[in-house]
Amino acid sequence: MSWFSPVRPAAQPAGVAADDLPAGPVISLRDIEKSYKLAAGQTYVLRRIGLDIQPGEFVTIMGPSGAGKSTLLALLGMLDADWAGEYHFLGHPVHRLAHKDRIAINKRYIGFVFQQYHLLDDLTVAENLDVPLSYRDYRKSERAAIVADALDRFQMVGKKDLYPRQLSGGQQQLVGVARAVIAKPQLILADEPTGNLHSSQARTTIVQVTHSEENAAYGDRIIDLKDGWMVGERATGRRRA
Ligand code: ADP
Repeated sequence: MSWFSPVRPAAQPAGVAADDLPAGPVISLRDIEKSYKLAAGQTYVLRRIGLDIQPGEFVTIMGPSGAGKSTLLALLGMLDADWAGEYHFLGHPVHRLAHKDRIAINKRYIGFVFQQYHLLDDLTVAENLDVPLSYRDYRKSERAAIVADALDRFQMVGKKDLYPRQLSGGQQQLVGVARAVIAKPQLILADEPTGNLHSSQARTTIVQVTHSEENAAYGDRIIDLKDGWMVGERATGRRRA
């Protein structure tokens, strides 16, 4: 499926450097562990995860149900703070950051394509697209121009004043993807994306969880997780344009 591909690169507003690739890794994990204390004892769901993800890399996490994929994605997105080990994001030591600083990084640098990240029901399509921009230092006129450009690229101009409930499921997903990428995040995290996230996002770092080998083939590298351990790593042999 390629509904993601006809998207043209957006005009970059002045003063926004999110498009520039950072010098070091976007993500650097060392000895990441996560566990739950259950009646039966301590249960580990991530074990000694070590991983570097370079700018512009498209990494896929695969593995059976319960392997820890969602847990790892949530950790990468700063949606979970209860873990041990070292996580550097764009050089920031996440493991030492206060909650509010983690949230600030999440909002400023990360776009989410998660099923559970629903569109806001009481906002129109255009207003939903404006939400990530409102977290950044854009002027109002710039925001309006960026939203208009995204509506155009995603071929949703005619839907801009509709509310999510007035869209089909597929259209809602499309708006969800547009919202994730509109502010040109340094990192896109995707949980079972229904289309593939290649082509127009060529310079963006992407981490996706998928069960689909076809979707995985668009990425550069596949990390296999099992019972919380990284049990394998494969290059797909494919480089994005
Ligand atoms: P995946 O996404 O690979 O299917 P998850 O990351 O959702 O796996 O879950 C990994 C493991 O963590 C599972 O074994 C799950 O049961 C466990 N887990 C998740 N949340 C909790 C919780 N709140 N308490 C105890 N165990 C949990």
